[in-house]
Amino acid sequence: MALAWRLCFPACRLIKRTKISKDRKTETMTALKPRASITSLIRYKPNLTTGRSGPVIRLSANEGALGPSPNAIDAMSRVMGEMHRYPSVDSSGLAEAIARKHGIDADRIVFGCGSDELISLVCQAYLEPGDEAIHTQYGFVMFPHATTVAGGVPVVAADNGFTVSVDNILDKVGPRTRIVFLANPNNPTGTYIPRDEVQRLRDGLRDDILLVLDAAYAEFVSRNDYADGIEFVEANENVVMLRTFSKLYALAGMRLGWGYMPHDVAAVLHGIKAPFSVSIPALAAGLAAIEDQAFEDRSLSHNRVMVDWTSQKLGELGLEVCPTVTNFFLTRFPDEQGRTAGECYAYCAERNILLRQMDAYGLPGYLRMSVGTEEEMQLVVDTVAAFLGQEPVSA
Ligand SMILES: *Cc1c(COP(=O)(O)O)cnc(C)c1O
Repeated sequence: MALAWRLCFPACRLIKRTKISKDRKTETMTALKPRASITSLIRYKPNLTTGRSGPVIRLSANEGALGPSPNAIDAMSRVMGEMHRYPSVDSSGLAEAIARKHGIDADRIVFGCGSDELISLVCQAYLEPGDEAIHTQYGFVMFPHATTVAGGVPVVAADNGFTVSVDNILDKVGPRTRIVFLANPNNPTGTYIPRDEVQRLRDGLRDDILLVLDAAYAEFVSRNDYADGIEFVEANENVVMLRTFSKLYALAGMRLGWGYMPHDVAAVLHGIKAPFSVSIPALAAGLAAIEDQAFEDRSLSHNRVMVDWTSQKLGELGLEVCPTVTNFFLTRFPDEQGRTAGECYAYCAERNILLRQMDAYGLPGYLRMSVGTEEEMQLVVDTVAAFLGQEPVSA
């Protein structure tokens, strides 16, 4: 009897506890409320699957087409034995390597868990509740997202067609403006504004407004009138340039980004940042990747060839492809039922090809596609051809 009781007792207690905690949970669920200003964000979920099994051709996230540099993979495997240690950015040598490559000052580089972390930090550091941060109409979604999370108010400046309008940004500046976000080149439009226009923007802003130049796709741009932002950081006390290893360097899964900024801004961001948000493998992979010039050259020439080829083929199918300076582009689909962007998206997804819908940007008639391997691009143009009831065009 005693034994039975003893055997039973823990179980009984367990049951009772679960019950209590269940009741408590129900209670807290109703009592617990997130900040009212963020409730609109809670629905967000990144779309990285087609919902089907089997390998997916993912052209929805502007990732590297060729996979990471083999040197980056080697570098990561070499540091695996150190995984009991906390990462040390300072001893990784990555800031010095970046500084050498770009001719900049290593002390003014701040790393983040992706440049997304740096976008969030800038908002947390420079926005009082109710302060405004301007972003552009078809600008990167993280800008209004991070602004809102930090308690700020996102303000939208209309684009001029698919290109950023400096005049419209300047028109939106008010007494509470603290940050202007400019992705240059911009995602999802693939367009850029030249150096002169960035200069005109900086000149038109008050000194207490921080200009954040997000140059995530800078490496892909080969135009003489383009400036990635370094010269603006050097010349001003209120400009931050953001870069990422997620795109050309094909390390999106490692989460590594960096910003170049004035000393004061770097000190502020270091002050509020989680000290270990960049991992040991990310630091090692980043270092190997930027030192692998052959990989960079191969990726760039692959990208150029495939952007041209795919744009031409989609054009031959009667679709309008937006010119791009990046590794992705927008394609416009007809408004007719059976040929719409939404239906093409679904048709491709059923065949495990993942493109990006643009409804969230107010562009439901468009799909965004990033450059993949040659085979992937052939498959996608043939799939789009089949969707439109046309013969394969990849040959
Ligand atoms: C992909 C992208 C980033 C980079 O994000 P990570 O967090 O570094 O992966 C930043 N800005 C824009 C505009 C992008 O498209």
